[in-house]
Amino acid sequence: MEDSYRHKGLRRNLLAQLRLKGIINEDVLEAMEAVPRHFFMNSAFLKFAYEDKAFPIGADQTISQPYTVAFQTSILNVSPGMKVLEIGTGSGYQTSVLAKLGTKVFSIERQKSLFLKTDSLLSKMRVKAQRYYGDGYKGKPAFAPYDRVIVTCGAPEVPNALIKQLKIGGLLVIPVGQEGSQEMLRLTKNSETDFSLERFGEFSFVPMLEDREMRY
Ligand code: SAH
Repeated sequence: MEDSYRHKGLRRNLLAQLRLKGIINEDVLEAMEAVPRHFFMNSAFLKFAYEDKAFPIGADQTISQPYTVAFQTSILNVSPGMKVLEIGTGSGYQTSVLAKLGTKVFSIERQKSLFLKTDSLLSKMRVKAQRYYGDGYKGKPAFAPYDRVIVTCGAPEVPNALIKQLKIGGLLVIPVGQEGSQEMLRLTKNSETDFSLERFGEFSFVPMLEDREMRY
């Protein structure tokens, strides 16, 4: 697939829309300008790649809306070199935006078919991010602690394992709620036992599912 002038133009238009919707973090906007979203879309939806909407990517999942990616990445407040744990690799678009920002990404996906498809796409694109097939509820203790944790599926609550794997002073961004609508939360880990919570309004994500059949 190629990233033509037409695609770049469409991307600039999309970024202008995101600015109008209140995204002001220039690093995030620059990273999103550099990552060709159409590479991550199913062929049936290619022509919509630069609309500010979520689209199906197979296995009942969606690529997040650009505004949501921009918003979550902005409040995650990353700097280059940080270790970031992402739950819900999906299409790999959010993963690629985080990698473009110079972070060390560890991303987990629980759907085998999506994991394999995205793993091969990210290899082809030479995106430097560690990819794992597994249950995000458990996090990835082997590489903990993380500076940042981002969850890109709607969770019924904040999983304890993810808080545990966060550095003191680290941030966890997670949409919490029932299917259909979740509240975007940002948790700051002040100490092993003290956290503060900020609320950032309603979003809609596919659900975070626990895979009881998954074997380790
Ligand atoms: N960041 C993705 C969003 C994909 S949608 C993107 O930019 O495209 C959310 C993804 O979370 C789906 O692929 C879904 O399969 C995955 N998911 C749901 N529950 C999960 C869990 N317990 N562990 C890991 N991934 C999970």
